[in-house]
Amino acid sequence: MLENKVAVVTGAAKGIGRAIAFALASEGAMVIVNYRGSHSQAEETVKEIEAAGGKAEAYPCDVAGGPAVEAFFSDILNRYGRVDILVNNAGVTRDGLLMRMSDEDWDQVLDANLKGAFHCCKWAAKAMLKQKSGRIVNIASVSGVMGNAGQANYSASKAGLIGLTKSAARELSSRGITVNAVAPGFIETDMTAKLSDRVKEAATGQIPLGRFGNPEDIAAAVAFLASDQAGYITGQVLCVDGGMAM
Ligand code: NAP
Repeated sequence: MLENKVAVVTGAAKGIGRAIAFALASEGAMVIVNYRGSHSQAEETVKEIEAAGGKAEAYPCDVAGGPAVEAFFSDILNRYGRVDILVNNAGVTRDGLLMRMSDEDWDQVLDANLKGAFHCCKWAAKAMLKQKSGRIVNIASVSGVMGNAGQANYSASKAGLIGLTKSAARELSSRGITVNAVAPGFIETDMTAKLSDRVKEAATGQIPLGRFGNPEDIAAAVAFLASDQAGYITGQVLCVDGGMAM
């Protein structure tokens, strides 16, 4: 159970982040529902968590910006006094073949997916080090484990996130802080809704369990890694992908 714990979930207005926010709130955590542009969806997520008996607050912050993230965590600490769980879920795609990929598409994806997680780990870890406890879960991707044609920027950001996870796990373990990654396969959200039927069919063919996952499949894995029961697990990458990357 996560009673009296404060959890920050980035990019939690919709999709996988929203399901993670619900899962942590249903275990009793006070959840900060971070978002960048999706204000009304973040407010809606908070309302639904509260209607189900949970505690949550929507909070805007573009995690790609260092000073903004420092101010975000400083405000959370002033108001709640602690940060127990950080889930780095915010992420974007700008797919395209390597030969045609612009610097802008590269930078936008690396900034949101990798630099954003770095900023949040840094400021959350400051609080967790003082508390001598904490759980960080980074949402990577099978693309970061296996690579994916048309996603050089995205795969690089997610592989980098796995490296960040392992290094942070080694740095923070002596203070009781665990850092793990969950690597989703194809999950039904807005991110995959834009794929063509042909791509979806080809993707399904690569999944041993024969279907896309849903956001709750990922949220269940994150809730476990955020729990006290997962205290002896750190630096791991848990693929939740229907068997794709085995
Ligand atoms: P989604 O529905 O597009 O949600 C992504 C969220 O990230 C959006 O709500 C967006 O917020 C937020 N975000 C993006 N950049 C941000 C930034 N700089 N600062 C703060 N928030 C930011 O996508 P999803 O499918 O739920 O993906 C969630 C995570 O799972 C991502 O890291 C993604 O890479 C990963 N993942 C997804 C799949 C999949 O199949 N869906 C597979 C593997 C991994 P705004 O809308 O407010 O901009």
